[in-house]
Amino acid sequence: MEKLLIGSHVSFKKDSQLVGSVEEALSYKANTFMFYTGAPQNTNRAKIDEQKTLEAYQLMEENGINPKDVIVHAPYIINLANNEKKDSYQFAINFLAQEIERCEQLGIPRLVLHPGSYVKLTKEEGIKNIINGLNTVISSEQSVIICLETMAGKGTEIGTIDDLKEIIDYMKYPEKVMVCLDTCHLNDAGYDMTKFDKFLKEFDEKIGTDKIACVHINDSKNPLGAHKDRHENFGLGFLGFDTLINIIYHDKLKDVPKILETPYVTKTDDSKERLYPPYLFEIDMIRNKKFDPDFINKIRTYYK
Ligand code: FE
Ligand code: FE
Ligand code: ZN
Repeated sequence: MEKLLIGSHVSFKKDSQLVGSVEEALSYKANTFMFYTGAPQNTNRAKIDEQKTLEAYQLMEENGINPKDVIVHAPYIINLANNEKKDSYQFAINFLAQEIERCEQLGIPRLVLHPGSYVKLTKEEGIKNIINGLNTVISSEQSVIICLETMAGKGTEIGTIDDLKEIIDYMKYPEKVMVCLDTCHLNDAGYDMTKFDKFLKEFDEKIGTDKIACVHINDSKNPLGAHKDRHENFGLGFLGFDTLINIIYHDKLKDVPKILETPYVTKTDDSKERLYPPYLFEIDMIRNKKFDPDFINKIRTYYK
């Protein structure tokens, strides 16, 4: 059987913690998953509950999920690129250090991080700040790997392949830093995902494909090079089903976890708008390698 590590973004709630995340992943028939240790937009974080973590490990073992394949995503608001306000820059550094500690406690070795936005600084200054911030936080003893995500280039975002290469080149402990590809972001940044072998060749020359720790699988609402970052459901955007399937099943990415971050599906019931996760249906299409043109409607019927 072809091995495929596929999962999605799931929640991590204050009460159910990692057990809740595993249960949600299992409800999508996933064998890996990604979560934020709290809300992605803020930095309020609950204390990790040892007992819940142990329960979650039990549940993962029973269901063939390897914790080493699970991913944590740092909140978006950590911006290591901008140090105009010294307090916020220091806050970002401290928060990242705590996030690494939480990952250590949870036994999850991969932490995805958006490199940051340089805002009113120059790009070079932004990159320097990221390098400085990471070198301040990362220690030789940590088992957590920081996975820098490729970004769409919206506004002043840093995160092209060349940017990531430069950051990694200046790491004191380069073995602690890897990369998370995001197919929507790459498309929006101007990397043609329909020519994925060409992209991987460039990536290999600049950074090395052995540095790919995670792939975010998203379709894009926008065409190549749009610099927008709006995710679309699997197969319904500018990348399309075949392009994404080709990436997911690529030989060079066999052992790399693939994580869906596609948008929830809306449905209006009794004039109330509800949102449903698309992941069970998207994962099913991915496993069957067969597009179902009606899957959005099936999601709306399934979650009643
Ligand atoms: Fe991200
Ligand atoms: Fe992403
Ligand atoms: Zn995105």
